[in-house]
Amino acid sequence: MFQRILVANRGEIALRVIRACRDLGIEVAVVYSEADRGAPYLALADRAVCIGPGPATDSYLKIQRIIAAAEVVNADAIHPGYGFLSENAHFAEVCRTCKIEFIGPPEAAMAQVGNKDRAKQLAKKANVPTVPGSEGVVHTDEEALRFAAQVGYPVLIKAVAGGGGKGMRVAQNDATLATGLAQARQEAEAAFKDGNVYLEKYLDKPRHIEIQVLGDKHGNVIHLFERDCSLQRRHQKLVEESPAPNLPAQVREDICAAAVRLVKTANYYSAGTCEFLVDKDNKFYFIEVNARIQVEHPVTELVTGVDLIREQIRVAAGEKLRYAQSEIVTRGHAIECRINAEDPSRDFRPSAGVVTKWQPPGGPGVRLDTHVVTGYRVPPNYDSMVAKLLVHRPTRAEAFATMRRALREFVVEGIHTTIPIHQEIFQTPAFIEGRVDTTFIERELLTKK
Ligand code: ADP
Repeated sequence: MFQRILVANRGEIALRVIRACRDLGIEVAVVYSEADRGAPYLALADRAVCIGPGPATDSYLKIQRIIAAAEVVNADAIHPGYGFLSENAHFAEVCRTCKIEFIGPPEAAMAQVGNKDRAKQLAKKANVPTVPGSEGVVHTDEEALRFAAQVGYPVLIKAVAGGGGKGMRVAQNDATLATGLAQARQEAEAAFKDGNVYLEKYLDKPRHIEIQVLGDKHGNVIHLFERDCSLQRRHQKLVEESPAPNLPAQVREDICAAAVRLVKTANYYSAGTCEFLVDKDNKFYFIEVNARIQVEHPVTELVTGVDLIREQIRVAAGEKLRYAQSEIVTRGHAIECRINAEDPSRDFRPSAGVVTKWQPPGGPGVRLDTHVVTGYRVPPNYDSMVAKLLVHRPTRAEAFATMRRALREFVVEGIHTTIPIHQEIFQTPAFIEGRVDTTFIERELLTKK
C-alpha cells in the first residue's frame, strides 16, 4: 500500500480524498493555489503545498508544479480528483516516468476513451449501441450538411475532446448548422486546444443514465449499477439518483452489461463511468466514458455500500477487487443535489464571496460532502459547486421527503446558491413521478419564470 498520497485537486473532492486516505491509514498531502490559501480543509491533510497563483492554468493544471510538490512531500501516488488533470493521459505518463503512481485508469485506455469519437468506435467494437453520428470528425460544411440530410434535423455538434458541455451546439437547419460548426470549433479550440468536432443525431427528450464501473489491474471489472442524471441545465447535471425510476429490469441489466463489455475492450482499470442516453422506447445509446471518479459518485456509494475512492486507491496499489459482481447489490434509494454558488434569479450567474452563515442540514439519511464552513470565501476562479447534498432512504418517496427536509434546514448567507431551485424541483410532479428527461428543467421549470 502507498505510504503517502498527494491530492492534486481542491475543494470538496480534495477533502473527500483526504478522508479516504485517513480511513486507510495513509499519509496525505494536498496542493493549493494562492486563491485557496487558508481554506480550512487544507489543515486536515498532513501537509499542504502551494503550487502557484489562482488561475488554474498557473497552478492546478501545471504538471511540473504538481510533480515538484509530490517530490517535496515524497508522495508515492497522486490522486487527481475530477476536472483539472484527472483525464489527462500525458499527466499520467509523466507520473509514471517520475515513478509516482497515478490513481486512475491506464494511459492507453484514457487516451482512447478521452476522445469521444474514438470512444464511440470502441463501443461499436464492443457491440454497444451508439447514437447515430458522423463517421468520425467532420472537416467541412459539406460533410456536415450531407450527414444532416441523411439523419434529419435536429443534429448535435460535439467536440471530440469535449467536456462540461463545451463545444456543443444544437442545429435545427442548414443555416444554424454552418454557424454552429464555426462556433463549436472555436469554443472547443479555446477550451481543449482541439477544435475537432463530430455530429450526432439530437435525440428527442432522452434520459441520461450512466453506469459506474470499477476494475483492477488483474483484468477484473464489475459494474455498480446506474445513476439517473436526467435533471440538467444546459447539459450540466443538477440532480442525480439511483436506482433510475421506471427503468425496466431487463434494460438496466442490458446497459450494465454493455458498460462492462465496453471498458473490458479498452483494458480499463480503476473507477470509471459509461454514459448513455435512453429514449422513450427504452432503447439506449452510448455517448461517452468518464475516465475518472465523478462528482456524483457518492450516490452509488450510498446504495451499494462500496467506498469508491478507497477502492480506487486499493486497485492503484495493485490489489485485486474485493467484490465479485454477485456481491454488488443496491439497497434503498439515494439522491444528490449539486449546491452551486450561483444566483438562480439572475441566470445562474456565479456568486463568489464570503459565506457569512453556513448552517448545514443533518439527521437520519443525510450526507453532506463539502469543504465550506462559515467565514469561507468562495474564490471566483473555479467551478461554482460548494456542496453535494445527499440522502439515502429505503424508498424513493422517503428519499424525496428527506431531501425536502434537508433543503429546508440548509441555511447559507453571504452568497447565492442553487438551494431555491432544488426546493422547487423536489415539488415538481413530473420529477416526483419519475417522468423527466434532459431538457425538462429548461422546458418546464426555467422558461415559465
Ligand atoms: P460533456 O462531456 O460535454 O458533458 P456529454 O457527451 O456527456 O457532454 O453530453 C452531456 C449531455 O448533453 C447529455 O447528458 C445530454 O443531456 C446531452 N446530449 C449529448 N448527446 C446528445 C444527443 N445525441 N442527443 C440529445 N442530447 C444529447
